[in-house]
Amino acid sequence: MKRVLPLFTSEPGEFPDARGRFGAYGGRFVPETLIPALDDLESAWRAARADAAYREELSALLQDYAGRPTPLSDAPRLAQVLGVRARLLLKREDLLHTGAHKLNNTLGQALLARRMGKKRVIAETGAGQHGVATATVCALLGLECVVYMGVEDVERQAPNVSRMGLLGAEVRPVEAGSRTLKDAMNEAIRDWVTNVRTTYYCIGSAAGPHPYPLLVRELQSIIGEEIAAQCAERLGRAPDAVVACVGGGSNAIGAFHRFVPDRRVRLFGVEAAGLGLDSGKHGASLSRGRPGVLHGSRSYLLQTEDGQVVEAHSISAGLDYPGVGPELSHLRDARRLEVLAATDAEALEGFRALARSEGILCALESAHAIAALPKLPAEVRDAANAAVVVNLSGRGDKDLATILKALGSAR
Ligand SMILES: *Cc1c(COP(=O)(O)O)cnc(C)c1O
Repeated sequence: MKRVLPLFTSEPGEFPDARGRFGAYGGRFVPETLIPALDDLESAWRAARADAAYREELSALLQDYAGRPTPLSDAPRLAQVLGVRARLLLKREDLLHTGAHKLNNTLGQALLARRMGKKRVIAETGAGQHGVATATVCALLGLECVVYMGVEDVERQAPNVSRMGLLGAEVRPVEAGSRTLKDAMNEAIRDWVTNVRTTYYCIGSAAGPHPYPLLVRELQSIIGEEIAAQCAERLGRAPDAVVACVGGGSNAIGAFHRFVPDRRVRLFGVEAAGLGLDSGKHGASLSRGRPGVLHGSRSYLLQTEDGQVVEAHSISAGLDYPGVGPELSHLRDARRLEVLAATDAEALEGFRALARSEGILCALESAHAIAALPKLPAEVRDAANAAVVVNLSGRGDKDLATILKALGSAR
């Protein structure tokens, strides 16, 4: 008989509490009309995660459709090129169907939508990666799919708009505001308020109002569960550190969550420093933001003195977001999460180092995690007996045009 993947095996733990708070963060800052829908979603989720039939169906799709478990690859030549003495291991989410970790989340949410009897799924997308992952699972399960996307992004991310169309989804361009992700999110929420009886809202990161940060974390935690099992087999113990890039925070919390109670495992989140942390053009909400409310929950946020949300900047579209999920904000304040940052230029260098040393073209988001490895504390980086797992969140095909343009003649 087929093995069932270790889904939802860890207890949810202390956080979020009954009100969806992770310490000072999270919660529900949404129109009153959505509270019953969020309550429904939460109870449907609790029932689904406890139901063996849901777990088995998700497990089968994650294995036979998406390609789990993903490999854990040793990267000795990368370590040498970067001057890292610790053993480096890459968790290969880049090898998942559609090329990134996002499918772990959309598969679980689409199965949940179907369980809840909703035949229409909506999503917002910035770079288009979450839109493609949502369109993919809607095609697979025969669900109607509408994706909201800022006009600016529709133009910048034309290949993903085409992909969504080919997968049978309808892309609705959003003209409002700065015509990017946060406007698309507002539009998706408006749609949900109007059509809440028939419609499931599929959020793409461990952000948004409760229960989304919990739900997305649980669906992405398969990454950390596999890392734990693979390290137990390979090393006979847990890794010494796990490193992941942080946009909204879903691949990071997915890789970290299993290890949060084990204080011996250090957790490093890498934010986009863009043109530099002091340039004002970056996506480093944990490093340089202040707590505020965006997209229905309280978390670290890039904002002006008087609380206006600031546009983020990063060469990687997936890290170009002014907020971050509430759980990472909490872990940062609790000093459980250590926050690093890599600039656009450093990420490009990381991309190239990985390509030339290991034969892997990674996503620019993931290249930030690679670029941060030389910045790890010396006691981790220089310890020959230490093992560091880097979550390689996605593959680089989507970024080739950007990378070639940025590298220019340096290529
Ligand atoms: C979307 C994306 C990210 C950022 O999203 P998180 O929710 O922070 O994980 C990172 N890497 C890749 C490859 C992505 O597509």
